[in-house]
Parts: sequence; C-alpha cells; structure tokens
Amino acid sequence: MSAVHSFVLHPFARKDKERPNVDIRIIGVLGAGQMGSGIAQLAAAAEYDVRLCDASLAQAEVGRGKIDAVLGRQVEKGKMEDAARKALVARIKPVATPADFADCDLVVEAATENVTLKLELFRACDAAMKKGAILASNTSSISLTKLAAATKRPPEVIGMHFMNPPPLMKLVEIVRAIQTSEETFKDTVAVAHKMGKTTTVSNDAPGFLVNRILIPMLCEACFALQEGVGSAEDIDTGAKLGLNHPMGPLELSDLIGLDTVLAIADVLYRDIGDDKYRAPTNLRNLVAAGWLGRKTKRGFYTYDDKGQKAGRA
Ligand code: NAD
Repeated sequence: MSAVHSFVLHPFARKDKERPNVDIRIIGVLGAGQMGSGIAQLAAAAEYDVRLCDASLAQAEVGRGKIDAVLGRQVEKGKMEDAARKALVARIKPVATPADFADCDLVVEAATENVTLKLELFRACDAAMKKGAILASNTSSISLTKLAAATKRPPEVIGMHFMNPPPLMKLVEIVRAIQTSEETFKDTVAVAHKMGKTTTVSNDAPGFLVNRILIPMLCEACFALQEGVGSAEDIDTGAKLGLNHPMGPLELSDLIGLDTVLAIADVLYRDIGDDKYRAPTNLRNLVAAGWLGRKTKRGFYTYDDKGQKAGRA
C-alpha cells in the first residue's frame, strides 16, 4: 500500500551512521489491551515473530487468548482457514517482562496512556533491547521527544500510532520525535506498509494530527450532552447521518475508552495551554466512576458481553 507522503528529510533529523542495519524480523508489543493485542495480531499476520508483554505473563496470555478468539470467529465465518489461525497464533509468544525483548528488532509500546508509566516502560525496554533496535510508542498524545530523551537510543525512538481496531483501520500515523533518525523513520514506515497500512507523518506536537482534530470534537459532544442541548442518541445520530461519520462521537468515545479520551484531552489542554481543550466534567466523572466505555461495559451507553450496545447508561 502506498504512503500518502514522501520521504522529505525532517528539519531536525540527523543521519545516524552509528546505527547497525537492523533487519526487522521480531516485534515486541508491550501492553496486551485492545490496541496491543490488535497490533500483535497485525504483526503476526505480516509474518513477524511477536513477543507480547503486559503487566504480568498471565495478562499477556489473556491478550493472546483474545486474538485467538477473534480469529476463531473469522474461521467460523469462513474468512480464514483454521491452519492459518493456528500458525498466526503460534507466532505470538507471551512474555513476562520487557526484559524479554532482548531479541526484538522493534518494540511497539501500547500500555495505558500515562506519561509516568510510559517513561518507566521506555527505560525498561531500552535497557533490555539490543543496539539499533527501534522503540516505538502507540501513544495517542504523549511527547515522543520526551519519551526518547528518557532512553539511551533517542534516534531509534518514534511514534507508531495505530487506529482502533488496528487490524481493520487503514492508517498508521508516524510521529517523529525531534531526535528520530531518518533510518528509523524509513524502517518504521516500511514495517507499517508490510502490515498493509497507509502512513501519514506528524511532527511531535500534542495529539499529533489525528487526535488534535478528533479529541476537541469528542469533548464538544460531551459538552453538548452535559448542557442538555440534546440526547446522546441524537448527538450520535446527528454525526452519523448529518456528517456521514461511521460512528457518533459518544459511541466512538466509548470504543476508544473514556480514560484514554480524557488522558489525551488533558495532554492537549496542558501542553497547548488553550481553554478550548479543557475536558468536560461528565467525561471526568465517568472515568472517576470506572465507567470507561465498551471495555468496562458501561460508558455513555451500556454493552453486553459481546461488546454490542445494550442501551443508554
Ligand atoms: P487498554 O486499557 O485496552 O490497554 C492498556 C494495557 O496496558 C492493559 O492491558 C494494561 O494491563 C497494560 N498495562 C498497564 N500497565 C502496564 C505495565 N506496567 N506493563 C505492561 N502493560 C501494562 O488501552 P488501549 O486502548 O489498548 O490503549 C493503549 C495505548 O494505545 C494508549 O497509549 C492509548 O493512548 C493508545 N491508543 C488507543 C487507541 C484507542 O482507540 N483506544 C487508539 C490509538 C492509540
């Protein structure tokens, strides 16, 4: 699949002649939640060997189990051979800690959107990974430049922002830290293309491009609901039928995870410093209650065990 950008040398990029040529064959994925498990599935489908890690080995195994279940449904529908499902799942090895990423050529961090946690995980990955291996983050909003500075490999740090759900969404937004080398950029774009994705490029700014556009719209929908301008259903139906969006902003927020939406909004507000990015109270309250959307079966709407919308919360 072709990229929608050209390889223009980033103004801050430097040629890193020190970096050994890394043939990317083994990909580590850190975080086995909805994004990490989707990224692991994509990587295995592109015939990379995958190391899948979460806060514990048991959670990584649960992540691989979810991938197996998703693929099992594809087999039931006749969209995949059972042998292909088994081969794909066999390429994913659950591991216990980032220390198990020593043989990885690329690690994609996809843990909870929290800067303190990501800095800690970046340091742990950096310590374990071999020289020249690329350390990417799927962060939705956190500064890649800050994450890169916490490591001993700033030229090999980059943003690989997959969309939700990763196997279905066509885009990977590549985010360049100011330290990212041209080689790292090219190799990362090549991996995204091998996974069948189209890439766009963003420089390192709060929310990058996609969430800089999306999150203010999601928050505005929350404000409209909070002020009683209309019901949740009318807000979502308005966006779907009036704007031709495939999902309304409140149901999309539930899909993304309200904790993630709030975390991104808080980064935009703090790092850009404009009041227009402030998060609405109803969103903050739902997160405080632990009602995080589909992943907890309750957010703006309620969901059944299969993740189907059951009603209004
Ligand atoms: P999630 O809540 O589904 O998964 C987060 C995972 O991180 C969990 O499995 C959790 O156990 C794990 N984790 C927490 N602490 C950890 C630790 N110390 N070590 C290892 N793993 C740990 O969240 P998600 O939606 O998969 O989001 C993950 C990342 O992807 C975030 O940075 C988010 O901003 C980004 N992202 C999310 C979306 C979306 O729509 N949800 C889209 C693009 C990017």
